[in-house]
Amino acid sequence: MSAPGPADRTTADPADQEASTGDESPGAGRYAPSPSGDLHLGNLRTAILAWVLARRSGRAFHLRVEDLDRVREGSQRRQLEDLAALGIDWDGEVVRQSERGAAYESAIDRLVSHDLVFECYCTRREILEAPSAPHAPPGAYPGTCRDLSASARETGRERMRELRRDPALRLRADVPERTVQDLWAGSVRGPVDDLVLRRGDGVVAYNLAVVVDDAAAGVDQVTRADDLLSSAPRQAHLAHLLGLPEPGYAHVPLAVNAAGTRLAKRDGAVTLRDRLEGGEAIADVVGRIGDSLGLPGCRIAADVLERWDPSTLDRAPWVVDLPT
Ligand code: GLU
Repeated sequence: MSAPGPADRTTADPADQEASTGDESPGAGRYAPSPSGDLHLGNLRTAILAWVLARRSGRAFHLRVEDLDRVREGSQRRQLEDLAALGIDWDGEVVRQSERGAAYESAIDRLVSHDLVFECYCTRREILEAPSAPHAPPGAYPGTCRDLSASARETGRERMRELRRDPALRLRADVPERTVQDLWAGSVRGPVDDLVLRRGDGVVAYNLAVVVDDAAAGVDQVTRADDLLSSAPRQAHLAHLLGLPEPGYAHVPLAVNAAGTRLAKRDGAVTLRDRLEGGEAIADVVGRIGDSLGLPGCRIAADVLERWDPSTLDRAPWVVDLPT
């Protein structure tokens, strides 16, 4: 018998995920950085939280490098070094998405076999310029290629050959919305759209890769920054369509600068290496992250693990206001 899954929850009580389920397989958490540059304080805080939530609940913890896109040379090695330097450890081999093409293709095949995929011949510009449905957000896919006749498809394919690219593959979404359960946000209802599964340049889309990879690694606890909360319903639905279990979600507040915009490299000395070069120690950096979690005096990730109290997590964005 398995413990009640996230779908059975009606309210979000952070303490629920604290306790081990007593299930034979304790499940796993993960951290999944994109190797597009050094991790900044916000990324490091999310990584610590992902590790703490997994370890506190007796789960395994995995690292996955999301290197399908936006790869910067050397960044992957530096990110792993930085996580280890904070005292984060992980189980098993690091998974690299660039090595998982076969798993993604077989997931696409499965969706194709259920008639849940269509080819899209639109350019990005056409999608942006198309009149959108009354309540759709700007730039939402207007459904242009969803129900084309066979001859219109042939014309579309001809056009792709001229543009020297493949058609993108999109999900034929069979529901408009889905509800997921988030550890802090509770029930979150959001759109399930005709999302891209594979881009016209052949790169598998993030939404598909993340679902396939989390399930393959036994991940049942997805911790990440809350800018991705709105993607969770479509990912959960994709898991459902693929016959994969839906994980529980724990979206944690994004880090922002003093002006309230998403923290970025241009905000100054925001990476671990920047802080160390400026004369701080690892303990200072972890201390800053611990302070932001309402846990003063932490010096290494294990201190956060030991003293973790989910009730002290401020749900507001973390304002990183560094002394210059
Ligand atoms: N790779 C994504 C990022 O670095 C995170 C994706 C995820 O955790 O699902 O923002």
